[in-house]
Amino acid sequence: MWILISPWFIKWFTPKEVAGITIFPFIILNKKELKQDNVFVNHELIHIYQQLELFFIPFILWYYAEFFFRLLIYRNIQKAYRNLSFEREAYLNETNFDYLKTRKFFSFLKYL
Ligand SMILES: [Zn+2]
Repeated sequence: MWILISPWFIKWFTPKEVAGITIFPFIILNKKELKQDNVFVNHELIHIYQQLELFFIPFILWYYAEFFFRLLIYRNIQKAYRNLSFEREAYLNETNFDYLKTRKFFSFLKYL
């Protein structure tokens, strides 16, 4: 896993509130200070594991399919995003720095 700093990539390829994105095997951040943010990096690392177990492309398809499904339910982009199973798992466990040591495969399914 590599951490890259690329403000232009974040600016052009993600919505405007986004500070970082994980595209296995890279975590791309908009500023280098975020590398020191252990909670933020742990959150993105959880996405690395999710992407690995779904072989990346199925992860992307699932992520967007679930996003549009949740958008239909919540009719709110932020709410739809925060309730994605992948994001729920990452947000609920981002402050637990031992989480990835004990995490079982396909744990995001518990957050569907
Ligand atoms: Zn996330």
